[in-house]
Formats: sequence, C-alpha cells, structure tokens
Amino acid sequence: MPEDRPTHQIIEIFGDLADVLPYTQPVYRRTVHARPVTFTCQWCNRTVTQQRFPGPLPRYCGDACRIPAQRTGTRARVQQFRARHGDAEQDHDAS
Ligand SMILES: [Zn+2]
Repeated sequence: MPEDRPTHQIIEIFGDLADVLPYTQPVYRRTVHARPVTFTCQWCNRTVTQQRFPGPLPRYCGDACRIPAQRTGTRARVQQFRARHGDAEQDHDAS
C-alpha cells in the first residue's frame, strides 16, 4: 500500500547557545528517520506496524481510532469527575 508519510524529518535545535547566536538561528540541525514501530492500537486492539519517528509509542492506529477514543476518554473523565464529587447515581450491580 502506498505510504505518503514523509520518511525523515529535520529537527532544528535551539537552546544552549541562544545567547551567542541569533535566536532564530538553530544551534544545530539533525535528521531523524522514521522506522517501523509495532504497537497495539488501544481502540481496535489490532497490532499494527507503522513508519514512525522516534518518540513515545503511538496509542492508536490512525485517526479513525484516535478520534472516537479521545471523545470517549473525555466523556469518561467527566463521569469520573461526577462520581468523585457525589453527583452521580449510586449504581450497585447485583450480580
Ligand atoms: Zn485502531
């Protein structure tokens, strides 16, 4: 399947030498390459391999999972907040 994601990314580092260099001039520049990362999507539970830049592991295999997951996550946080503040119905599960 075609992959139109860029395979490398130039990172410009600003920082330590900012007082001796103009602020807009990067101290140095490096190129990071994407590499295949295998992870399990926390929404659809599929294990997928994607080209990713170094960094934290992705949680979702794509927007199709990330968007509903974040929407649900927001709702869950609201419910948690209500429960903690005694604003929710007591629901005892008689099982
Ligand atoms: Zn997914």
